[in-house]
Amino acid sequence: MSAILKRIAFLFLIVLLPVIARAEQPVTSVELLKDASFYNAKKIIFEGEVVGDIMIRGKSGWINVNDGGNAIGVFAAANFLKDIDQAGRYGKTGDLVQIFGVFNRSCTEHGGDLDIHALNIQRIKEGNSTIRSIPTFKQIILVLLSVILIIILWISKDSRKH
Ligand SMILES: [Zn+2]
Repeated sequence: MSAILKRIAFLFLIVLLPVIARAEQPVTSVELLKDASFYNAKKIIFEGEVVGDIMIRGKSGWINVNDGGNAIGVFAAANFLKDIDQAGRYGKTGDLVQIFGVFNRSCTEHGGDLDIHALNIQRIKEGNSTIRSIPTFKQIILVLLSVILIIILWISKDSRKH
């Protein structure tokens, strides 16, 4: 490759890399709400936890996705929602999902509400019940304490011999 071609290829990379990187970067709910008119009708990636109720009616449905800032309603085809079975509520962590879809500042299809129409939904991490994990944590502590107690008893018993 000639030096000029190399330089052109390098410049091309410098220009293209941030574009590629930005395209794959998820946008936060705070950014979406702040720059709603900028993101309106644009394809975006949004990541967060599924919270509240998963509503499926016929061929489509709704989920609420919270990224820690705000919960945003996501409208999707029912087949995208069939794998999502954990929604976060008290004592429960919902499925972590990545939404690729079109952001609507004021959706004409859905009564002027702010929403995302999903083109694809990927489950990144399965949700779980945090309540169920508390007894197991307590059990580990209890076992550890018992072991420590046995060791202390054993040491004190052993030292009495001498
Ligand atoms: Zn809508």
